[in-house]
Amino acid sequence: MEDLINRIVSIVSEHDKWRHSTINLIASENVMSPLAESLYLNDMLHRYAEGKPRKRYYQGTKYIDEIELLASDLMSKLFSANYAEVRPVSGTTANGTVFYALGGCGKKALIPPVQAGSHVSHTKFGILGALGIEHIEMPYDKDNFNIDVDKAVKMIEEVKPSFVVLGGSMYPFPHPVKEIAEAAHAVGAKVVYDAAHVLGLIAGKALSNPLTEGADVMTASTHKTFPGPQGGVILTNDRDLYKKISKIVFPVFVSNHHAHRLPSLAVTAIEMMNFGEEYAKQIVSNAKALAEELHSLGVKVLGEKLGFTRTHQVILDLSDRGGAAEAVVRLEEANIIANKNLLPWDPPDAIANPSGIRLGVQEMTRFGMKEGEMKEIAKFISDVLNGKDPKEVREKVIEFRREYVKVHYGYELNEVALKRFKEYLEMALNLTL
Ligand SMILES: *Cc1c(COP(=O)(O)O)cnc(C)c1O
Repeated sequence: MEDLINRIVSIVSEHDKWRHSTINLIASENVMSPLAESLYLNDMLHRYAEGKPRKRYYQGTKYIDEIELLASDLMSKLFSANYAEVRPVSGTTANGTVFYALGGCGKKALIPPVQAGSHVSHTKFGILGALGIEHIEMPYDKDNFNIDVDKAVKMIEEVKPSFVVLGGSMYPFPHPVKEIAEAAHAVGAKVVYDAAHVLGLIAGKALSNPLTEGADVMTASTHKTFPGPQGGVILTNDRDLYKKISKIVFPVFVSNHHAHRLPSLAVTAIEMMNFGEEYAKQIVSNAKALAEELHSLGVKVLGEKLGFTRTHQVILDLSDRGGAAEAVVRLEEANIIANKNLLPWDPPDAIANPSGIRLGVQEMTRFGMKEGEMKEIAKFISDVLNGKDPKEVREKVIEFRREYVKVHYGYELNEVALKRFKEYLEMALNLTL
């Protein structure tokens, strides 16, 4: 037993050390600030708080109530939304809640195709399909990597869907919210903007706020470009919709809602109020720098005539290099973590070896990297893609990464937080410090 326990501990330890020595370019991940991470470990992770603050089904929730109200209030302010629902435990749960509120069995939703970057939760394989809602593919313009507005407007008029979904998982260029919202509203359809990937860029005003552009509701994950704890959020100005949504989150999609993440969420919201603009601007600038350098090193990058990217993402096209499956494994051997991704022209069954690699620079930006560092990363990547031994590159990556360990655009533990953290370790883990 002791051996097994030690193995479990060392798996965690090896994971932690490994991931801190890699260049992580997974576009849907990030790290919290030290303050937010320290607060993540708290007794709320053992508790239930079903229902809404001050209207719970169990006793013992007075501090959870206070923190949930605070977190909702801060998220509302940050996104200039009247209502924020912070109980969904993930972006998928947030989508499920909103899709259920707007649709239900037999209803139709107009959503871009999967190859154009839609998330699995938008499809028949995910929560949309599980709810019995039909995914009708929104016309997509493969040359501009975006929705074909004219055709989409026509289709909205013909199909009269219950709702339209914008936003996605592969998302180098923002969708045209205004034009689509006008057409949708004209036929009584609601507009859902899924900001899972770009919530941090919206918070930092690098992208315009979809709610002011015409979206009725915004769903998101709170841990991608928004550098908070893993979780979900729903934001809206529509009072009736908010009420409906709040009645669906619990009891339909969550019972316990992982309240221990809410202090970290509240802290991250404050960090985004104070450092969000600087952070978001640097992300977009870094993404452009990475794309340009990769391009000049001979790697095919999507969207050259559109300036490669307007978000945190850079999409590589490896269709003339035999696809992405082997490339991402070789990159991992070099301690560069990225994922293979379908491109708009790939058939859906190309999922095992699609043409694309999706890169996101948000986490490395958070560790203080700027345009110059992006050029070095581009060189590491092109070396691996051009056949250099990944083990050789790995040595350099580990050396390079050592210089970037401090999290920027967020708070360290102050005296009060350090005292609380020590007390927690003593009390809950029975340690003597
Ligand atoms: C990641 C993602 C989600 C789901 O987020 P989880 O928090 O992982 O459940 C939903 N929509 C889009 C567009 C995403 O990229």
